[in-house]
Amino acid sequence: MIAALVLLVALVAPLPSASPTRVDVLISAGHEGRPQSCARFPKHHCNLGASGEIAWTPVVADAATQILRAHGIGVQRLPADFDGRYDAGAAVFIHFDGNDSPCSTGASIGFHRAQDAPAAAAWRSYYGRYFPFRFMPDNFTRNLSNYYAFRQVHAQNGALVLELGEIDCPAQKAWLQPRLAWEGAVLAHFLANQIGRKDVPDPGPFAP
Ligand SMILES: [Zn+2]
Repeated sequence: MIAALVLLVALVAPLPSASPTRVDVLISAGHEGRPQSCARFPKHHCNLGASGEIAWTPVVADAATQILRAHGIGVQRLPADFDGRYDAGAAVFIHFDGNDSPCSTGASIGFHRAQDAPAAAAWRSYYGRYFPFRFMPDNFTRNLSNYYAFRQVHAQNGALVLELGEIDCPAQKAWLQPRLAWEGAVLAHFLANQIGRKDVPDPGPFAP
């Protein structure tokens, strides 16, 4: 009877102590799947993102995923809201920033644990070589440092929210628009590098 009860509980809800799923790389597309997923995750703020953001994050996430998988790297590709916990080699949550005062922000990075700071520095150094607009200080909003998914995802070599630019800023949006697949290639190179894989090439400057 008790065994049957335990089994029933296990079927209804995974126990919080269930061990995390181990993955090479985890890629989540910010806002993807909302608002449909919001009802299942009432504790998440049902943020739909900046205008146009929800259409762009999956494009970048899919491009990066395709490249990494082509190199035999395992990718857990997730939308904005997901169940379970993950232990990843490296993890990114892809976003574009928006602002009521257009062009007051740019690219930015969020992370929760001090041990993720080196990964943030590596991304700033790498993406900063390409991104010609401003880069905000790390964790410049609480949404970045306390991103909800940091509770579910830990990464050995960096769990980062990456805002790839500000899409309310016409100049940044125009620069980003043709580069979404290229952004995915840049991310794939970065993530591979973070887990010690040197065989995923840097795409170099965008060539139309
Ligand atoms: Zn966002």
